[in-house]
Amino acid sequence: MNVVDQPMVGRFAPSPTGAMHLGNARTALLAWLHTRAHGGRHILRFEDLDTGRVRNWAYDATRRDLEWLGLDWDAEYLQSERLELYAEALARLDTYPCTCTRKEIAAVIQASAGAPHGEEDVYPGICRSGSDPGRPAARRWRVPDETVCVSDGLTGETLCQHLRSEVGDFVLQRNDGVFAYHFAVVVDDADMGVTDILRGTDLWTATPRQVALQGALGVPTPRYLHVPLMTDFRGERLAKRDGAPPVMALREAGESPGKVLSELARSLDFLPLRAVPDEIGAADLIPLWREFGHFHPVKSLSQT
Ligand code: GLU
Ligand code: ZN
Repeated sequence: MNVVDQPMVGRFAPSPTGAMHLGNARTALLAWLHTRAHGGRHILRFEDLDTGRVRNWAYDATRRDLEWLGLDWDAEYLQSERLELYAEALARLDTYPCTCTRKEIAAVIQASAGAPHGEEDVYPGICRSGSDPGRPAARRWRVPDETVCVSDGLTGETLCQHLRSEVGDFVLQRNDGVFAYHFAVVVDDADMGVTDILRGTDLWTATPRQVALQGALGVPTPRYLHVPLMTDFRGERLAKRDGAPPVMALREAGESPGKVLSELARSLDFLPLRAVPDEIGAADLIPLWREFGHFHPVKSLSQT
């Protein structure tokens, strides 16, 4: 399914679990640039379903960081306020209760000597034909016996995954009631009319399962653009927990946002974003992103 003739809608979807670091800010910048370069509507969506990990101060800190950098948005949503929508969508899918613990799943995988498919364990379908009603249950999606291919609008890469053997029946709702990221993100992007998803490459391998969910829910597949994650001087990706420099600290120290934007643009391999002055405003980067898009035309996603 191709999305070409609709008004463009982009989004930035941070998890308010801590201070935004420079890597998050770079993804936020690129998502914003992409939306604005196409004259689209930009959405800020807080992915705050996992309440145990949410820090209440992080919402406002994120908003202020974005404003400070000059990255505005046209609408804001909190996933925690949209639980009914997820429940309705869940009811439309073929799911089943699963009471397995991590340990039980690992034991079955080991016993069957199934060669591991990559880093992630594929759920071996233990509860497909029934589960223990006395234990708290997660809900897993009975994935279709299909191969889903996705292609990336920026890198031009294509990735195909066979759902049964490489992904497995995955959890849409945890046994504590929390809706899973892969599920909520698909419901939200469809409900919000998102046409372009620009996000970090860490989510690239999760894209086929999200596209599969779109198919099952009968909603359009957006365009995907995966951008590299920012790495530190050791080449390791920045993470909140490793004390990557928070944007908040730079803002509070009176640093100039134009300098930070310039650093972020220069840290990318995307010419002409690399050749920017020492200080630059977010809006001045829009024509440069457009130029980048010209010699690297954004392809629409094809589903096979
Ligand atoms: N909330 C996710 C994150 O902070 C991003 C989800 C997405 O862009 O699809 O990594
Ligand atoms: Zn199970």
